[in-house]
Amino acid sequence: MSEASLEGDQSRAKWVNLLLGHDPKQQRYVVRTGLAVVTYGIVGTVGEIAVADGLVETFPVRMFEALAVLASLLSYALVRSGWSKRFHDPGLTLWQMGFGSLLATWCYPYFDQVRGSLIALQLGIVMFGTFNLSRYHLWRFSVFVVLCMGSIMWWSNHQYPARYPASIEWVYFVMFVGLQPIAVVLGNQFGAMRTSLKRHRAELQDALQTIRELASRDELTGLYNRRQAVSVMEQWIRNAEQHAAVCSLAMIDLDLFKQINDDHGHHVGDEALKAFTAEAQETLRGSELIARWGGEEFLVLLPRTDTEGARHAMARLRERLKFHQISAETPALRVCFSSGVTDLRAGDQLESVLQRADQALYQAKRQGRGRDVVHVENMST
Ligand code: GH3
Ligand code: MG
Ligand code: MG
Repeated sequence: MSEASLEGDQSRAKWVNLLLGHDPKQQRYVVRTGLAVVTYGIVGTVGEIAVADGLVETFPVRMFEALAVLASLLSYALVRSGWSKRFHDPGLTLWQMGFGSLLATWCYPYFDQVRGSLIALQLGIVMFGTFNLSRYHLWRFSVFVVLCMGSIMWWSNHQYPARYPASIEWVYFVMFVGLQPIAVVLGNQFGAMRTSLKRHRAELQDALQTIRELASRDELTGLYNRRQAVSVMEQWIRNAEQHAAVCSLAMIDLDLFKQINDDHGHHVGDEALKAFTAEAQETLRGSELIARWGGEEFLVLLPRTDTEGARHAMARLRERLKFHQISAETPALRVCFSSGVTDLRAGDQLESVLQRADQALYQAKRQGRGRDVVHVENMST
């Protein structure tokens, strides 16, 4: 992306945030208020044309416009400022719908030959409810609108029978009542689609989270697996470089593990891996990361710890394992390990750190197992 278009995007985003707010939900509410303004605008324009043609008096049209502008500004201020967030209906949809509907009802006896625009406005208002209102509330609102329009049509006919003849009012009323359920049913279907889409999206997000979790965890021990350990380590190496932080790493290999499997069976071997995991999690501090590197090998990352500290941590873990019974089936069996310890150094790559830890581990095994060896330069392999 070019610098100019990036700058353009940033300034557009700045304006959008300024007008609509930062919260995407709030932005939608403000846009909806904007749509209500457009709807009022259309009816206002129809009114102005009718005024120009001498079909309608100026006062009711200007009054409609003034009240519509006032209500829109107030809604915008309440929604944009976040004040309306305290309500169950933070977009103030029902409030705006109710006001619009009453306004259209009030204007009806004045709009004379262009009163059809108000009927369309009432239908449009019901459509707004599809975004937020439940099926029950939408039906209730629809009944409210039908009652409002029915009453005002009757009243207009009663007051001005020449301009609002009963036959025409009946046609309008029947059309309006007939179209109401269609608007509500379509609106409800639309609402149901939105709800189902929302649910599916939430389910997908949950599934994605589970997949991520599964992809990063070892099934037997629940520890991070090798892939996740590599990604965390790469991050650590970058951080250690940036902050010149002390950080060390221990590569652990359980001693004579094959023997445990051979002597007691694979299931006891599995129990031993779990016992080691439980004890390691208990012993090591929360900020230290332990991962199953593969088979009976584990990797421990120790932040803000030098190699001496890492060696102490390993010794502590080894001591505790002496008291950890693996299974009731094998009361005397204990698990022991060797470890190779190194620290992160300037300019380190993942491979170089792992290689040093591996060399040290190899030495620990060679020196008789059950011990920790810190890597030193020119260590034999
Ligand atoms: P050393 O002290 O030299 O490390 O000897 P070792 O027996 O631990 O090493 P070796 O590499 O010979 O054997 C490792 C064994 O660990 C072999 C393999 O079957 C066993 N192992 C690896 N993963 C699992 C597992 O998930 N469950 C069980 N039960 N055993 C496993
Ligand atoms: Mg091994
Ligand atoms: Mg081993």
